[in-house]
Amino acid sequence: MTTNDELFLRAQHAIPGGVNSPVRAFGSVGGTPRFLVSAKGPYVTDAEGREYVDLIAGWGPAILGHADPRVIEAVQDAASRGLSFGASTPAETELAELVEQRVGPVEQLRLVSTGTEATMTAIRLARGFTGRDLLVKFAGHYHGHSDGLLAEAGSGLATFALPGSAGVPAEIAALTLVIPYNDLDAVEVVFAEHGDRIAAVIVEAAAANMGVVPPLPGFNQALVRIARDHGALVISDEVLTGFRVSEAGWWGLEQASAGTDADTSYTPDLQTFGKVIGGGMPVAAVGGRLEIMQRLAPLGPVYQAGTLSGNPVAVAAGIATLNAADASVYAALDRNAGLVASAVTDALAAEGVAHVVQRAGNLFSFMFTEAPVVDYDGAKAQESWRYAPFFHAMLDAGVSLPPSVFEAWFVTAAHDDAAIARIVDALPAAAKAAAAA
Ligand code: PMP
Repeated sequence: MTTNDELFLRAQHAIPGGVNSPVRAFGSVGGTPRFLVSAKGPYVTDAEGREYVDLIAGWGPAILGHADPRVIEAVQDAASRGLSFGASTPAETELAELVEQRVGPVEQLRLVSTGTEATMTAIRLARGFTGRDLLVKFAGHYHGHSDGLLAEAGSGLATFALPGSAGVPAEIAALTLVIPYNDLDAVEVVFAEHGDRIAAVIVEAAAANMGVVPPLPGFNQALVRIARDHGALVISDEVLTGFRVSEAGWWGLEQASAGTDADTSYTPDLQTFGKVIGGGMPVAAVGGRLEIMQRLAPLGPVYQAGTLSGNPVAVAAGIATLNAADASVYAALDRNAGLVASAVTDALAAEGVAHVVQRAGNLFSFMFTEAPVVDYDGAKAQESWRYAPFFHAMLDAGVSLPPSVFEAWFVTAAHDDAAIARIVDALPAAAKAAAAA
């Protein structure tokens, strides 16, 4: 048997850092990443033959659980008919129609392969549509790794950003303005100062890349109103939340309040999707208002293309996943999120560890702090060192958590009583480890 340690050493020779995406390297928790060889339902199995209850779910896509037979069958069937045509297929229209039926503001949809591509395309489209250059984003929000989105906040309320990575030219970063999340005053200020130059605001529909930080009630709605007053577009990034937190994503949850006293509904101009839309295969998308979407090539002057866009095998996984994701799946996801979140909070409370559960629908995370967190400064201010020992105690007991305190936890509909019991059993020792840190 080859061990995880041996595989990691070998990988580090062949691949920078031994990983193809940085968070997988266990950088913030230390130790050797597990090299996975298979996954089924709520479980993943590593190269040493050890099984773990999985709370990563492929970083979101596996809402049905891993290797759901309906999805696997659809993929095998599509694969047997050819892997990639580079031509139109009936299935890609079917997937676009499924999304348009679920998500009201999406009148047309363009398929791409990754969330990064989706947000990059959405921004180009917003700039092409408005004829403006500036982009507003929120500190702590992640939208993929394109240059203008790897921008960091400078000091001050509404500042031109600094490069957030080596290799990003300062001139590109300076086209992005970074402001604090959940702060409508900051939104008003940035529009008062630069309103006629802002093409779009990009926002995670509910933030989940600094840990989970839901929007304050009415935040998305006010954001759309303010942007619209200034002729700018709103790009609501549902790569993580789309088709996971409800049949119509985060937009769907807020839309459900339309017309009530607590109406938080809103209509973004563009939405981006990834993860669940591909059911674990590389599919992502940008969709929105017809007159904006029709600016894309070949109809309009905004160029965008992709050899693998709408890949038939990937699209088959997406269609099978969305078709299977009915109300009972979302009920199971909500239930499982509730069970895991309350078990963790009970265990931490029993050890006197100060923490808050941060929730956005069935997405949740824990922050080691006293009061609910509403922005990135708050997320960074927590006692984050308590996470690594907690994480490793869970891993030792056979539960795989996201290897960073700044990531959401993902349940699947396949987390049954046995899987949840394994999580619950692992918690007391992990909570003790967090308390001792
Ligand atoms: N937007 C959001 C909200 C995300 O969470 C992510 C990935 N976690 C992305 C965009 C980028 O997607 P991808 O990793 O597929 O490029």
